Amino acid sequence: MDTRMERIRQDFENNQLAVDEPFDFRCTLCGKCCIHREDIFLTPKDLYNLARELHQMPEAVFDQYCEWYIGADSRLPIVRLKPQGSVRRCPLLKDQKCSVHNAKPTVCAIFPIGRGMAVEKSRIDEVTTADIRYFFTNPGCGDGSETHTVKEWLGAFGIPLQDDFFIEWQKCLIKLSLRFREMEKKPGSDMRAVWDSALVLLYLTYEVGMEFEPQFREHVEDLQKLLDKMEKH
Ligand code: SF4
Ligand code: SF4
Repeated sequence: MDTRMERIRQDFENNQLAVDEPFDFRCTLCGKCCIHREDIFLTPKDLYNLARELHQMPEAVFDQYCEWYIGADSRLPIVRLKPQGSVRRCPLLKDQKCSVHNAKPTVCAIFPIGRGMAVEKSRIDEVTTADIRYFFTNPGCGDGSETHTVKEWLGAFGIPLQDDFFIEWQKCLIKLSLRFREMEKKPGSDMRAVWDSALVLLYLTYEVGMEFEPQFREHVEDLQKLLDKMEKH
């Protein structure tokens, strides 16, 4: 497994927190969480929010600040902010400050809390907020002079516990991962075309003047139709 994903998986398994469970952490604003980072992963909504904040199209933000690769296990396109230079600095760190503070990616907004889901294949369509798991990432920074709960920490950044897009996105990822892994086993599958289409439809083709969620749903449907066609050939 990808080492970044492996570290996240270990925290997910070992450091889970209930939403009302206290954890001790105070951010001392040292800025180190924006360097030596290879794991600022973006959802399509994160990229859309960045594009709105920067008054650019998602594709332009992607070209300037992001990179992508295929997940070793998931076989899905994974998008992240492209670390720069020897200190692997986030490209959005300007003058020692986050230049997109109001639209920072969710992983940055909730840091050092992480969020994920572990769901059996048979239950994909039934997942709810109760299946979301939170974990402490043990960042080795800040100090422990404040006590928080996940509920209050997320609330401070305007992220609801009932995050419908997060649930929808997780379902989409699980289903696509299963499908892509099956497609990859079939001789003659053009996986490059499959991955390119998934990247473009899921992440890049949004109108920032329009609401995100309806566009996302439409793009997921379009991708399913395209995959059906590709599988028939
Ligand atoms: S997006 Fe902002 S908060 Fe997140 S790593 Fe980059 S500079 Fe830091
Ligand atoms: S979250 Fe940690 S690394 Fe980031 S600024 Fe706060 S104390 Fe520093």
